[in-house]
Amino acid sequence: MGRQVKCPYCELKLDKDDSVEYKKRYYHEECFETWRMEAEHRKELIEYICSLYKLDAPTGMMLKQIKEFQEDYKYKLKGIELALRYFHETLEKPVQSGTGIGIVPFVYEDAKKHFMMKLKVEESVEDLKTVESKSVTVQSPQFNYERKLQQIDIGSL
Ligand SMILES: [Zn+2]
Repeated sequence: MGRQVKCPYCELKLDKDDSVEYKKRYYHEECFETWRMEAEHRKELIEYICSLYKLDAPTGMMLKQIKEFQEDYKYKLKGIELALRYFHETLEKPVQSGTGIGIVPFVYEDAKKHFMMKLKVEESVEDLKTVESKSVTVQSPQFNYERKLQQIDIGSL
């Protein structure tokens, strides 16, 4: 057994030998993946907010709102971004200054439904594509068969 270290993400102890090391800190593999993904999602959300409100950095109010949404509403960072995209891109509502991203709780559930539905449609389109490609592979042996026959005919002459 190796040295016991504390995972900075879940704050539980683990064996150093089983951990993922990143900048001298030791994570559970799963915790590391989640942490990396959240960092990525946070970056994407901030970038989206900045482009939406034409800011270089989100305001203190916005950062506070994000924190509240995560802690009080248990919203995911990607969910917050999708809620904003849904409101401004799908519903084509204009950006209003002064409210920060206060709209999020009002559209979060609708946005979730909207993107789930979209995902389902995309999945069924994918299914169709697989069916099509299957029918192509079914046809190719027939083609080979015919070619083989031709070759035999030529050989027997
Ligand atoms: Zn952990």
